[in-house]
Amino acid sequence: MLTEIKALVENLAPRLIEIRRHLHAHPELSGQEYQTAAYVAGVLSSCGLQVQESVGKTGVVGDLKGQGQDSRCLAIRTDMDALPITEGTHLEFASRHPGIMHACGHDIHTTLGLGTAMVLSQLSEPLPGNLRFLFQPAEEIAQGASWMIQDGAMGGVNHILGVHVFPSIPAQTVGIRYGALTAAADDLEIFIQGESGHGARPHEAIDAIWIASQVVTSLQQAISRTQNPLRPIVLTIGQISGGRAPNVIADQVRMAGTVRSLHPETHANLPDWIEGIVGHVCRTYGAKYEVNYRRGVPSVQNDSQLTKLLEETSREALGSERVQIITEPSLGAEDFSLYLEQAPGAMFRLGVGFSERANHPLHHPQFEADEKAIVTGVLTLSYAAYQYWQGLA
Ligand SMILES: [Zn+2]
Ligand SMILES: [Zn+2]
Repeated sequence: MLTEIKALVENLAPRLIEIRRHLHAHPELSGQEYQTAAYVAGVLSSCGLQVQESVGKTGVVGDLKGQGQDSRCLAIRTDMDALPITEGTHLEFASRHPGIMHACGHDIHTTLGLGTAMVLSQLSEPLPGNLRFLFQPAEEIAQGASWMIQDGAMGGVNHILGVHVFPSIPAQTVGIRYGALTAAADDLEIFIQGESGHGARPHEAIDAIWIASQVVTSLQQAISRTQNPLRPIVLTIGQISGGRAPNVIADQVRMAGTVRSLHPETHANLPDWIEGIVGHVCRTYGAKYEVNYRRGVPSVQNDSQLTKLLEETSREALGSERVQIITEPSLGAEDFSLYLEQAPGAMFRLGVGFSERANHPLHHPQFEADEKAIVTGVLTLSYAAYQYWQGLA
């Protein structure tokens, strides 16, 4: 069957490049993937899949029904949204939508989902179980997965696979990670209320800017002195504002940031830990405070059985020299983790890096993906999905 899948993927390669270039030229922002969703639905219908549109607002679900006795359902999730970035590449299929760009490779992901549906719907023997394709909107704002789950997209799904492109892995290679792949990402907002006064008379005021500086410093130092260094935390205050004039002591400061962590226990304790430090500093110097901690997406924790399926099938389909075992997780975030709260699964990285020139990172206006990766990605997903019903107990 691997020979047949390989031949189908090779035959489809020119069509897949065409699809990817069309998607790249017509990017849409998170939650507004109307044209992309209609295009996806059209391709899935032409492959004979049962298609549901408007699942999770602009999401699309395609079901490829199996003909065998196995009732298990495997889902494959790919995301469709682009970013508010003005494209800086000189590609002939560069974005035609001003200020919007597929700078995270979701055009490639959508192509991989469509390509895998095309391949697996054309097999000479139908699949023994059901395969469900989830084309997700709004990944960049970490909303789309929860929209799709709320609309029932994970109903009856037993396991799920996902993929993200990665420019620091060469094209035609995949990266497999056991355990944590990405971090939990939460939002933090802190208000500090002091008391205004003359810049020359600090003893008559409560300086919110100075106290805010102590809070930032204490948080950073406390990570290194009170948290287990083998369970990483990154806390970045990315915004700070306060004060009205150079000679007036500021009475209010607002700070906002992002908090990334990998270990579930660390993640669970973060709000109390932060509140404790902010409260301690503010009480010491007589300021009032408010901490708003908003949980974002949890960490992607790859299931060992599904990761093993990806590793074994990609070694067989691509050759072991094209399979990298990733030893370190990323502190980036990915809402694929929300599906993993519904069913075990695994996400792999698809190399899209160029060997002959420098690669720009994801979310960069000059990010470009080596299109040779498309065949690799479709082959990996198709063969892993095919083997799911053969090997996975
Ligand atoms: Zn992104
Ligand atoms: Zn992305």
